[in-house]
Amino acid sequence: MQLFKHQPIKIYNSLSGTKETFKPINEGYVGMYVCGPTVYSNVHLGNVRTFMSFDMIFRYLKHVGYKVRYVRNITDAGHLENDADAGEDKITKKARLEQIEPMEIVQRYTVDFHNILNTFNFLPPSIEPTATGHIIEQIELIKDILNNGFAYQVNGSVYFDVHKFNETHDYGILSKRKLEDLIHNTRELDGQGDKKNPQDFALWKKAEPQHIMRWPSPWGDGFPGWHLECTAMSTKYLGDQFDIHGGGMDLKFPHHECEIAQNEAAKGQSPVNYWMHANMLELNGQRMSKSTGNTVNPDELLSGNNKFFSKAFAPSVIRFFMAQAHYRSVLDLTDDGLIASEKGFFRLMDAINLLDGLKASETSSVDINTWKQKCYDAMNDDFNSPILIANLFEAAKYINQVKEGSETLTKEDAALLKTTLHAFLFDVLGLENVTKKESGQDKLSGAVNVLIKLRQEARANKDFAMSDKIRDELAEAGILLKDGKEGTTFSLL
Ligand SMILES: [Zn+2]
Repeated sequence: MQLFKHQPIKIYNSLSGTKETFKPINEGYVGMYVCGPTVYSNVHLGNVRTFMSFDMIFRYLKHVGYKVRYVRNITDAGHLENDADAGEDKITKKARLEQIEPMEIVQRYTVDFHNILNTFNFLPPSIEPTATGHIIEQIELIKDILNNGFAYQVNGSVYFDVHKFNETHDYGILSKRKLEDLIHNTRELDGQGDKKNPQDFALWKKAEPQHIMRWPSPWGDGFPGWHLECTAMSTKYLGDQFDIHGGGMDLKFPHHECEIAQNEAAKGQSPVNYWMHANMLELNGQRMSKSTGNTVNPDELLSGNNKFFSKAFAPSVIRFFMAQAHYRSVLDLTDDGLIASEKGFFRLMDAINLLDGLKASETSSVDINTWKQKCYDAMNDDFNSPILIANLFEAAKYINQVKEGSETLTKEDAALLKTTLHAFLFDVLGLENVTKKESGQDKLSGAVNVLIKLRQEARANKDFAMSDKIRDELAEAGILLKDGKEGTTFSLL
């Protein structure tokens, strides 16, 4: 079904700053590239939100009938520590600290990344290229940029000449920055002595003797700059110009700005028609950061073993929570928010599980076709999943009203409601149909709450030996009790 022919999609394009009607380069086909993870540590929950947004977009584009080639890379070399050109390669540094081969780091965290994404029911991308697998393509790109006069070679490194580029092009076109302002705001940092100007960025970095990840090149042994890999891999698999490029908001500058500059310098054209950026995930109203301790990783959120949340949450509940915010809005992760989403999620699942048992009527008192179109309208308006979900809750209300007898549905309308709900909940939002009972949560919670009550009684009787025994033996069984202001809660270790 080629729904897209009748359902034009509007996409907010970061390049123009407006919503535009999506028109792919080749009718019926979409090329989409999303910047993947740098695999030197466990995947961050903020990254999960970004990839989840693009998973939903990928799913919806497929749902409306597009043939989508979705490329998401793995950065396994070249991403320097401070996101600039000074500092050590993140993967090499981790390898040195742990005294193992860099590719062991890459392997370990690539597996971790895939495991987390599988847990959250992500669809795999069509192609998942690695930076180290595309060194030749990156070297060829550098040659083109050098030949066109937009780069220079110094001491075995090659830098992109931002000032030269800006004479004939617009560096800052995506992030709406002006080179003059960038010059004004740049502090001179150590370690960029080779560059003509601090705004220039590395296309190729010379490898110092102790640097393990190194490749031969016309400029000597070294490794590619981080921005370059995405230009090389996106255009290799999607063409010199393609439809959608996505990533987290934090990548807009300098990473995506540099991608545009590299492509224009090498191939004479802007690479991407629609730039899409997913917004940040906060924790309790503040930026997540390892250094301040205001952070929780996906495993800790799923197991409940963390200091911020009162319980464990199922992957679909977390997905549902994230889909309740628009991908371009900042999303604040809170205990109250997740608990509210969990209630909503189970309300929807309960409703969908009621559908088969509904009594059919001669006529329908609700207009299912209009409701269905509202679901599509929401997604066609820049993938507005919160409005979609509001419509799904409307459907849950109808189902409960039909069950109670205050509204009616014909057999055909009930079937249409069912296929539409299934399509949006499971195919587009990527949720899984788990009920509280199936997840075993109800029974387990019931049993643990009995023990929590017994422990409270023991404490009230000053029988601390018994209360400690209950706590310790539950911990041994992998259930962690937490005493808080609101009483005792538990999480699974
Ligand atoms: Zn990238």
